[in-house]
Order: sequence, then structure tokens, then C-alpha cells
Amino acid sequence: MFIIFGKVTFYMGVLEEKIKNHIRVIEDFPQPGISFKDFSGIFQNSELSNEVIQSLASHARGKVDLVCGIESRGFLFGFPLALALDVPFVMMRKKGKLPPPTVSETYQLEYGEATLEIIENQIQLGQRVLIHDDVLATGGTARAASNLIEKVGAKPVQYSFLIQLNFLQGLKNLKSDVEVISLLEFQS
Ligand code: AMP
Repeated sequence: MFIIFGKVTFYMGVLEEKIKNHIRVIEDFPQPGISFKDFSGIFQNSELSNEVIQSLASHARGKVDLVCGIESRGFLFGFPLALALDVPFVMMRKKGKLPPPTVSETYQLEYGEATLEIIENQIQLGQRVLIHDDVLATGGTARAASNLIEKVGAKPVQYSFLIQLNFLQGLKNLKSDVEVISLLEFQS
């Protein structure tokens, strides 16, 4: 962002712009009031997909021992990111999808609650963990993910997203001592 003569001007980097050009915004999907950001267009472009992975990796190289991807869209870039960093990958899934033994964390949604699980012993004590998801919306999911990482004695060190929805103020819900990386921000 640049500030010129008191006027705030948003400067968009080359990669940001390319990503934005591959995102489709669908209003009122999957329910009224939601502005859905569909990034599946990025997968149509292997060069851009690679650039996304390399960019996410450049922010994490040397800082993390493991990548944890959140079901389901967090697996899409999460696993290649782990490969690029040459570290293990762990799937964090919704309740009942993973075989036992599992460790879980339940969190509140606007209506009701949800539970995230990982397979026990896939994350070791003290490991520095990158939590990856496609979109940071209210931050409830990512926060629960970091609580689960801490529950097994590991340390969340980076939240990594493709897209951050600033208007939902998800940053407020995240752990304040964990770095946040988002490649593209939406103001609405
Ligand atoms: P939250 O817990 O509110 O931060 O929601 C994060 C999860 O919801 C992510 O896993 C996203 O896949 C999904 N999500 C929430 N809002 C959107 C949106 N506007 N477009 C696409 N995905 C979304």
C-alpha cells in the first residue's frame, strides 16, 4: 500500500494481480449474503500454480518443520507447499473422516459447533507447524487448528492463506504471536 498526498492507494503486486485474475467471485453462494471466492481457475494454469507454491514457500522456508492443511481446500496448496519445503504434511479433517487414534478440537460456529481432527502421533512434540487453508474468513477454523496443534504439544508458527477477507476481521481471532501470510486480500 502507498500513501500519496494523504490519499491511500493500493498497490497490487504482479503475483497478486495474476491470482486475482484467476479468481471468480460468486455472490450469494452457497447461501444469501456470502461472496464466494472460487480460486479453482488457478489450477488451469500450471505456471501460476507453481508461482503460488513458490511464493508461499518463500515465506516459510527454514521456519517450519511441518505443514498442516485444513480440509478440504487447504489440502490443495498445502501438500505441494510441504513438498516444496521438504517437510511432512498432515491432514486436519472434519470429525469422523480420519481413522483412530485421533486428537480433536471443537469450536463454535455462528450456528452450532464443528470439530477438527488429526491422526495422533503425526505431529511431534515441539515441532514448528505451518497451518494452511485457502481462505481466512472469520478466523474460527484457523484458530481452532492452532489450538489443536498446541494440544499435541507442538507450536503453530505460521498461518498461511491464499486469500484473506479483510471485511470479516479474521485476524482478530487468530493467535497474536503467530505470523500470518496471505497472498491476496479482499476488502469486500
Ligand atoms: P472461517 O472459519 O470463517 O475463517 O472460514 C474459513 C473456511 O471457510 C475456509 O476453509 C474456507 O474454505 C471457507 N470460506 C469462508 N468464507 C469463504 C468465502 N467467501 N469464499 C470461499 N471460501 C470461504
